Amino acid sequence: MTSGRWTISCAYQGRQSYEREFAAAFADYCRSAHCVPVATGSAALAVGLEACGVGAGDEVIVPGLTWVASASAVLGVNAVPVLVDVDPRTYCLDPAAVEAAITERTRAITVVHAYSAVADLDSLLDIAQRHGLPLIEDCAHAHGARYGDWPVGAFGAAGVFSMQGSKLLTCGEGGALVTDDAEVANRAEHLRADGRVLRQEPVGVGEMELEETGRLMGSNACLSEFHAAVLLDQLALLDGQNSRRTRAAEHLAGRLAEMGLAVQETSAGTTDRAYYRFMVRLPDEALAVAPVELIARALSAELGFAVMQTHRPLNDNPLHRPSSRRRFATDARYLARVDPVRFDLPVAKRVHESVVSFGHEVLLAPLDAVDDIVRALQKVLGHVREIR
Ligand SMILES: *Cc1c(COP(=O)(O)O)cnc(C)c1O
Repeated sequence: MTSGRWTISCAYQGRQSYEREFAAAFADYCRSAHCVPVATGSAALAVGLEACGVGAGDEVIVPGLTWVASASAVLGVNAVPVLVDVDPRTYCLDPAAVEAAITERTRAITVVHAYSAVADLDSLLDIAQRHGLPLIEDCAHAHGARYGDWPVGAFGAAGVFSMQGSKLLTCGEGGALVTDDAEVANRAEHLRADGRVLRQEPVGVGEMELEETGRLMGSNACLSEFHAAVLLDQLALLDGQNSRRTRAAEHLAGRLAEMGLAVQETSAGTTDRAYYRFMVRLPDEALAVAPVELIARALSAELGFAVMQTHRPLNDNPLHRPSSRRRFATDARYLARVDPVRFDLPVAKRVHESVVSFGHEVLLAPLDAVDDIVRALQKVLGHVREIR
């Protein structure tokens, strides 16, 4: 509060900014050469797409089952989100569907490590390499997850994270991009600070650390010093919380398996899962009697916390309506290309209609409290005909 410097675009005051301190710590955590903190996860996606060369009219592959920001960020750089279906076991991008969706206009693939899974990175990296496309990892659900002993975010051309209030690592609103590519990092720095980058050489008190290069125009998506300071403290807690959640999730998955209930799976190469949401597939017999939203509501009433469906598939999601924004009405052909109803997402629809989930905070409870979830599922599924 008394530093006189509340963001990196204020003058240097004689101590390293929290923003730089967090960037170094998070790059290290993700085993990446560079980290560019930004104001939101959505900004991290937009900056990542543009830093990787995506621009007007380009097609970007986006999973059909994710938070709207994964697609709206693509619209934000005047590109076209191509919605692709997910794998029925992991709910992450289906590599075969990705391959089938690639055209001459495809410029990038974005993958989301969704809910508690890591996507099939081996197959997706292979496809990206064969087609010469950057893979952008949306890690908004997956802080600390690992694939083949390497943290997510470190596999693609860029990894982007959200630190919004619901996420595993949070400061209320925040985000970050990690990359090993110095050029991508430099472009990202320009894009998030109005065309300015941090100087390499030391500056004196009262001078600006940001240098106006004019190399690439940007806008302002800098992370404030307050947010960076909170993230530094939170980052120190992340691994401990992730292991507690994993212990609870594995215990719960075991109890649910005894009941014959399936939970979300992860790709074969996953070494550590990060549980942003715990996902349970409801049995067909129950779904034949009561729709998923009624069962979710009954479970919420039993448990006293929100049990919810997955995100709505993006081809049928009221939050993803490009035609409602006049800024996208520049040309009728573009509006037709971004119309979400032109995509078919049968697996995403089936997952949405059969899976319930709850948030990561529940998994920090002691194991005997976690058993309440088993009891609630037994009770609700045993009385499914009585739900109104
Ligand atoms: C939360 C989220 C984002 C966007 O992050 P914000 O910080 O809310 O802008 C992007 N992708 C996914 C998958 C998310 O869950």
